[in-house]
Formats: sequence, structure tokens, C-alpha cells
Amino acid sequence: MFMNSNLRKHIRHYTLNLLSLMSKPKPGVHILNGHFLSLNNSTSNIVFKILLEKLIKNGINLINIQDACDKIINKSFSIKNCEVAFTFDDGFEECFTKIAPVLDSYNLKAAFFVNPGFIDGNENYRQNFLKNIVCINSPKNPMSWNQLIKLKNNNHIIGAHTLDHQRLQAAPEAETQIVKCKELIQEKTNGTCDYFAFPYGRLEDFDELSLQIASKYYKFIFSQSDYRNYFSFQGKVINRRHFECDWPHRHVLYFLKSKSI
Ligand SMILES: [Zn+2]
Repeated sequence: MFMNSNLRKHIRHYTLNLLSLMSKPKPGVHILNGHFLSLNNSTSNIVFKILLEKLIKNGINLINIQDACDKIINKSFSIKNCEVAFTFDDGFEECFTKIAPVLDSYNLKAAFFVNPGFIDGNENYRQNFLKNIVCINSPKNPMSWNQLIKLKNNNHIIGAHTLDHQRLQAAPEAETQIVKCKELIQEKTNGTCDYFAFPYGRLEDFDELSLQIASKYYKFIFSQSDYRNYFSFQGKVINRRHFECDWPHRHVLYFLKSKSI
């Protein structure tokens, strides 16, 4: 039987609320990956502040992304504390205008994975990027290079997400997309770019050849998949869990589950 999407959304909402009441967040290092504050562009960033407050109230330690990566790479996970760090993909302007100010009020450093093609693209490129590439039905602008420089100077991480948000599985342009992205970010922000998140984030959106290329150019490579395991691709890719800043805190708490190496 066909179930309408609103009903499905409500069922998911109440199921997750219920499940989260029965399971407490587990110790370990969790990386949450979002994209924007909200699909609704008029949402206030208070929603993200409330989410962080609720996480803290539930005993979560918010940590910098650099520390989270070091702990994961060195396999030095806390056995007592549930630690959470944040990353954001696609480089939407609200990362700078709405999300970063909240992070900064906690002195919390995050990673922002950007696509230089979106930043430098004309109106047609941007429209196509939103509608057909990242598939969101909301008018959003990219962060500018100046905004990225400000984030970088404030010790946030500017990471690469390919030039044009290209799916890398068997992509003939994989090398250009991976390498040129790093070069452009380094040139425009006058810093090093060691972090890479492959677009779309599912393990089937990446392959061995792209992994080989990315490993040559980046220290840290991220998926957005398989979050119950710290790593994918034989320990070379760090897994992240999807969230968005306006999600109910109970849903986020539910995803902070025990993890395996
Ligand atoms: Zn993306």
C-alpha cells in the first residue's frame, strides 16, 4: 500500500523518539555530518544551539574535529565518555552565517567540505548544483572564498568535496576532481587541505582507484555511511553519521550507538 510521505515522516519521528528513550548514547568518538541549518531558510540558528544544549545535558562531550580524527586514527577511544564532533558538506552560506557562530560560542571547531565549482559557478551552475547534483529544493548560496578564509583563520577545517560534487565510483575524471579541488582550496585559502569527504557518502559512491588517489593527497578521508564501524575501506576511510542541525535531539541521541573498529 502506498503511504504518504508526511505520514511516513511522522511514523519515523515517533519511532525514533521511542527508540531513543530505550537506548542511551554509547561511549566512543562520533562524527556527525550535516549540510545546512535547515531546509527552511528562515529558521533561526537557535535550533542548533538548543540541539547542542540538549546533547550536553545528556552527558555528551562536544569535541573539536581535529581531536576526534586524532583519537579515531590512533584508536584511542574513550571507554567512559560519548564524544561528538561535527562536519558539514557542500559549503552552503548558512554554514558561515548561522552554524559557525553557534559552534564558535562553544569554541568548537568543525570541518566544512566544499566544492570550488559551486563557489565559483555562475547562476546556471548553482541552480543545476542545487536541483540536480545535491538535490535540495531550497534556494541556497555557497560560502564565498572570503568566508572560508575567515573560518580557516578561526581554526575550523576547510576540506575538499571534489570540484563539482562528482560521484567518484568509476569516474573518468576522478583524479582531476580530487586533486584540483585540493589545489584550489589551498591556493584560495592560503593553507593546507588535508581533509577529504567523497560526495554522496555511501560506500558504493567511492572505489579503490579514487581511494588510492585521495590517500596520496589527503590525511583524512570520510564517508557518510556505515557509522556503527569507525572505518571503511580497510581502515582508510573514517565513517560519519548523517544529521541536520534542526533534527530533534532524541533522534541524534539515538544514532550515538556503540561502534566497532
Ligand atoms: Zn555533498
